[in-house]
Amino acid sequence: MRERILLCLAHMSGKEQDFIKEAFDQNWVVPLGPNVNGFEKDLEGFVNDREGAAPLNKQVVALSAGTAAVHLALIACGVGHGDEVLVQSFTFCASSHPITYLGATPVFVDSERDSWNMDPDLLEEAIRDRIAKTGRKPKAIIPVALYGMPYKMDRIMEIANRYEIPVIEDAAEGLGSRYRGQVLGTFGKYGVLSFNGNKMITTSGGGALICDNAEDKRTIMWYATQARESYPYYQHEAIGYNYRMSNICAGIGRGQMTVINDHIAHHRHVQELYCELLKDVKGITMHCNPAPEYDSNFWLCTATLDPELRVKGQENAYKEVITGAVGGAAGVIHTASSATTDCQPNDNVEALRVCLDKANIEARPLWKPMHKQPVYKDAPAYVNGVSESLFKVGICLPAGPYVTDDDVRYIVDTIKESLIND
Ligand SMILES: *Cc1c(COP(=O)(O)O)cnc(C)c1O
Repeated sequence: MRERILLCLAHMSGKEQDFIKEAFDQNWVVPLGPNVNGFEKDLEGFVNDREGAAPLNKQVVALSAGTAAVHLALIACGVGHGDEVLVQSFTFCASSHPITYLGATPVFVDSERDSWNMDPDLLEEAIRDRIAKTGRKPKAIIPVALYGMPYKMDRIMEIANRYEIPVIEDAAEGLGSRYRGQVLGTFGKYGVLSFNGNKMITTSGGGALICDNAEDKRTIMWYATQARESYPYYQHEAIGYNYRMSNICAGIGRGQMTVINDHIAHHRHVQELYCELLKDVKGITMHCNPAPEYDSNFWLCTATLDPELRVKGQENAYKEVITGAVGGAAGVIHTASSATTDCQPNDNVEALRVCLDKANIEARPLWKPMHKQPVYKDAPAYVNGVSESLFKVGICLPAGPYVTDDDVRYIVDTIKESLIND
């Protein structure tokens, strides 16, 4: 049997251990130090690049997680109890959960068909309607680069600027993706990055916040280190957090930065190969850059299945409660009380996932939109049906640095063998 092909697995350059050894040798085994500073410098060089045009001057703060980066960005935008924040519904929960940590309310905005990301028209409708209903402006806007795909950033920024609402870009999945040649995370007031084990690069766990200037960076660092005042004893005048990245994790990050461009190139190559090999398969459509200004990193390669497409075993889809869950290795999972919910992928999608699983290939449905999550049933949502309909027909395919050309051929052959052709 082949080794299991995972969706996206961290890949070490070999240099990580040198940076970590240096941290031990110099006794910098703490949440600050030369690797943290070095990693931030490397990231700044990376995000500020504009493909030959004059570089930007953004600043980066390394943090313990991407979720922490979202949380601190919201605080820096003044989000507090009773406020509202506009957030893309089609996302992973880490985009919206920190809004609730702050006692604020997420207001979900649905997606547009072409990018699968925040629909600018709905965004504007939501802003107007929230102002009409509450008499107050939402405090921030969070578009999300789902699977790495850029959002329609020129329109989103134009709307945000017109209403004077700050934008927090959730580019956790979109590290290195570009819109009109500019790296995602650098358009808005803040940009969120993640270095979790399954993201574009890893620090085992970690994240970063891209900031506009040195002052914003200092504010974020202050909140990330328990918000301390300069006295000879602990004096606290604001609530802070323990969110700084450790010097050991940053050492992994510095090693990863030596291969980040190779990783991105590889993800794009895998995407191209899927497109090539699946182009004649009726009923399966790859999700591609919708226009020349979009340049996805293709963190995950995704496809949609025509509802009419028939897949072997689909009559048995959802017959059993599955044990474990998406990202199941990550922790404790509640055992589901039923095999189905009122909003789930079509039977043919689930059947294809099972066929791939039996062939030792990890595949996953698209992220279930937040406005369809029970935990957010009371949150306001501006919906056009796009994310829910994509959730029902979509599937994520393996794309990481370990996925070889031969693996892609094997995955596509397995997909073809799983289809029932009349
Ligand atoms: C992974 C992810 C995050 C959070 O990152 P962590 O480092 O895992 O905390 C935020 N938003 C999105 C869309 C993500 O996929």
